[in-house]
Amino acid sequence: MPELPEVETVARHLQKVVLGRTITQVRVLYGKAVEGATPEEFARGVQGQKISGVGRRGKYLLIDLANGRRLAAHLRLSGRMIVSAPWEPIDKYAQVVFSLDDGQELRFGDVRKFGRIAFLGERECGALHSRLGVEPLSDDFTVEVMAEILRDRKTRIKPLLLDQKFIAGLGNIYVDEALFLAGIHPAREARSISPEETARLHGAIRRVLAASIANRGTTLVDYRNADGSRGNNREALLVFRRTGQPCPRCGTAVERLKLGGRGTHICPKCQR
Ligand SMILES: [Zn+2]
Repeated sequence: MPELPEVETVARHLQKVVLGRTITQVRVLYGKAVEGATPEEFARGVQGQKISGVGRRGKYLLIDLANGRRLAAHLRLSGRMIVSAPWEPIDKYAQVVFSLDDGQELRFGDVRKFGRIAFLGERECGALHSRLGVEPLSDDFTVEVMAEILRDRKTRIKPLLLDQKFIAGLGNIYVDEALFLAGIHPAREARSISPEETARLHGAIRRVLAASIANRGTTLVDYRNADGSRGNNREALLVFRRTGQPCPRCGTAVERLKLGGRGTHICPKCQR
């Protein structure tokens, strides 16, 4: 389940190794992986194009082409975008393979085949951008913006934080971690959160994301960086998937509950 830190880690690696390369060939091995174009249109629009930019917006990995088109890859639950040598065998989960002019291949795949690459023009890029909320590591994400997101909302705080139209890039792992750090119970109504808690939550969101990027993301099962390596952040998690283990702050056993259908990890003593 790649979230902001995992996608950011992939984007940073791709910036180093594929930026400026030309895509010489595209093979769409699983047609449903491509959105916004037929596999043939996709191949026509991408082949021969230079990669002029690599970035991230929310949980989307963005690859800009010299012709003004943009690829927005969403890794969903178990997607991967990996730079491989052409002689390495293509696994059965590969969905789209891009051959590059330096002989490397960029392979997009997903064990569950849920991963998608949208082929975007300028208008669709704008639509994607406006559909997503603030970038939590940007200067735009201030305590005041956090307060504005929470104001008057009866929604529970966890589902609100997972909603990409408010804050882009958070998923189950980092919401649980940030709420723990801030000492806030995930079932609280957003509007019940005090100004002091709002400031703590704002800081906690930025801390858990930045720490995970520094650790190159969290690998639970499937996530891999673009060089195929695992992320190192799992050991740094404080409550997520630590059910029954002692809370690092007070020693109480971490509990798992269901909230909005999502497994949620809390310290019942530290989070009120
Ligand atoms: Zn505790």
